[in-house]
Amino acid sequence: MGNTISRRDFSKMLFSGIAGSSLFLSGVPLMASAPKARVVIIGGGFGGATAARYLKKLDPAISVTIVEPKTVFHTCPMSNWVLGGLKSMQDIAHTYNVLRQRYGVQIVHDTATVIDPVKKTVKLKGGRSLAYDRLVMSPGVDFIWDAVEGYSRQAGETSMPYAWEAGAQTQLLRKQLLALKDGENVIICAPKNSFRCPAAPYERASLIAYYLKNFKPKSKVIILDDKEVFTKQDLFMLGWDRLYPGRVEWRSGSTGGKVERVDPAKMIVSTEFGDEKGGVINVIPPQRAGRIAVDAGLADASGWCPVNPANFESTLHAGIHVIGDAALAGTMPKSGTAANTQGKALAAELVASFGGKDNGDHNLGSLCYSLLAPGYAISVSGGYSQSAEGIKDIPNTIHLTSMEATTDELSGEAKQSLHWYKGITEDTWG
Ligand SMILES: Cc1cc2nc3c(=O)[nH]c(=O)nc-3n(C[C@H](O)[C@H](O)[C@H](O)COP(=O)(O)OP(=O)(O)OC[C@H]3O[C@@H](n4cnc5c(N)ncnc54)[C@H](O)[C@@H]3O)c2cc1C
Repeated sequence: MGNTISRRDFSKMLFSGIAGSSLFLSGVPLMASAPKARVVIIGGGFGGATAARYLKKLDPAISVTIVEPKTVFHTCPMSNWVLGGLKSMQDIAHTYNVLRQRYGVQIVHDTATVIDPVKKTVKLKGGRSLAYDRLVMSPGVDFIWDAVEGYSRQAGETSMPYAWEAGAQTQLLRKQLLALKDGENVIICAPKNSFRCPAAPYERASLIAYYLKNFKPKSKVIILDDKEVFTKQDLFMLGWDRLYPGRVEWRSGSTGGKVERVDPAKMIVSTEFGDEKGGVINVIPPQRAGRIAVDAGLADASGWCPVNPANFESTLHAGIHVIGDAALAGTMPKSGTAANTQGKALAAELVASFGGKDNGDHNLGSLCYSLLAPGYAISVSGGYSQSAEGIKDIPNTIHLTSMEATTDELSGEAKQSLHWYKGITEDTWG
């Protein structure tokens, strides 16, 4: 595979961009007259917070409001490190203070419940209604709770955590791992495509195996997968052989990985090959676009939101733009980096559409590191071109860690993953 741009340069390209532009402001912009336009953003995660930050950077005269119920956002990236005991919850926590105080973004901690695309209003759970000229939706994913017999949201919040959004779920799964008896197994049920962060179930298996190796040496991780293949598979399997021989067992859908039902009371997972008992069971349900997007009629039969690839405007409702995991964004994976770069590209598009200056610098990209153990990481990255014809891979930017990577190179990737995290979270929440 071509490797013309190093990952460090690629990372710089993604997270510097218009950040270094002369439009950067250090104070809260004053809005002396009526705003040039009102943008309401649903969701203050990777896509929504980035779009808000860059809209204000590019044109402070635009009024930008984020609707987000959480006052503290815990990132899914690095939540697997917390499960392995390598990072704390504090390390993955981000607030909206910088967006509010430095950039003048209005943050409304509430949940959007109804969108009226004709009147251009968003109704909030707390009773308020917000008017917009453009609506940006980055609500992430929703979980299909009844896809597996016996599973439910209630089971996910108690005995069999899903931990596919970070925060209380991360803490619950970590607590269960700490309480696991040595010799009991951890089962991870991985969903079919497409879902948020295709590599994350396997990074999770690796870092749980790291924890077990050190603290529960008689236990192992079993991955029951609804798929036949998964991303970076050869690299993960090579790593498991080297780091955790016999401790990570992966079963594909056709070899006993397809989960038919679960029994949360007995802590049993059933497949057509029989029952498997777990001390800890992490069920990652199949996914679709965040519920508000589905309720607003923005999703198609795939469960995800079709958009005009040139500007992320919904093809189902004019004036509403969908980015991040919820969107059908060509060949881009559902990743934090993808959502962040989409947020920037959309901000530039909107500023131009309101008559401002589009600085033209909005590269789309994805960069995904997976840590298998301290000092051992692998990655996949790629740039994407965006036009009315679609969002497509730029072939010479695609990079995958080599199967021949040396110990130093793998350790270099682990260091770079920390730089990546710092860069993307600063680029998103400030
Ligand atoms: C375990 C794990 C590890 C991961 N690791 C990586 C990684 O290493 N690198 C990477 O690039 N990606 C990673 N990801 C993927 C990444 O987390 C997502 O792709 C990214 O968060 C998507 O951004 P988003 O803006 O679409 O959604 P989110 O970041 O989830 O933000 C959505 C926000 O919308 C809010 N919201 C939803 N509905 C409403 C509503 N009705 N009203 C108001 N607000 C609402 C939610 O509260 C949430 O805060 C990982 C994911 C997981 C699960």
